[in-house]
Amino acid sequence: MRGLRGDLKLIMDRLIARHSRALEDDSFIPTRARRASLTPLESLIGIILSQNSTDKNAWRALENLLAYYGGRVTAEKISGTDLRVLESLIKPAGIYRSKARAIKNLVSVLSEEELASLDVNELRKRLSSVRGIGPKTVDVFLASVRGVPTFPIDTHIRRILYRLGAISKKTESYDKIRSLVMSQIPPDKLLITHYVLILHGRTICKARNPRCSECPVEDLCEKRGLTPG
Ligand code: SF4
Repeated sequence: MRGLRGDLKLIMDRLIARHSRALEDDSFIPTRARRASLTPLESLIGIILSQNSTDKNAWRALENLLAYYGGRVTAEKISGTDLRVLESLIKPAGIYRSKARAIKNLVSVLSEEELASLDVNELRKRLSSVRGIGPKTVDVFLASVRGVPTFPIDTHIRRILYRLGAISKKTESYDKIRSLVMSQIPPDKLLITHYVLILHGRTICKARNPRCSECPVEDLCEKRGLTPG
């Protein structure tokens, strides 16, 4: 195996050019939440709902919450809602029992003011302590809502970076992948890089039958796992 054939930034420049409308893409919960002027808490709940779900179903669940709470979801309203009621409201997002518990846990650990203004290191620490919230959810929130230069990694991103040869194994640690990308991509391009790689994974570098002949970085791709050797 040879490893990454080109510079990761060059690869990303080409992918960004190909998926140039990524930041306007309403299929992403955080971009849709921003357009709808949702609060940090509402956005984070949307991000939790999108875990292992389609963004469409997560948005339906979030709309249920907004409608039930009269247009604004607050920590106080969530705290005062019976767990079973919360579960039924967010059912369209799937895995609704654990997501309802994660949302309840969240509002018991952090206030809305803290989500909006707490120092980033402290906020990362506190969010990471919430049961049901993993590093990807924390990074998506920090990057998309708080504007922190960080890089969330999902399964599409992991798969593409492996195929390109940027990481040597699909099971590479989350922190190692994040550090690698952050060392090569400028801070102001990290969020779009995240969205672009997801779009690339959804449309071209699919898990099964990737459309390599349509890929703008085919000449730079190791196609690890796809070709012998
Ligand atoms: S060439 Fe194929 S495997 Fe490589 S990034 Fe493009 S679609 Fe994925």
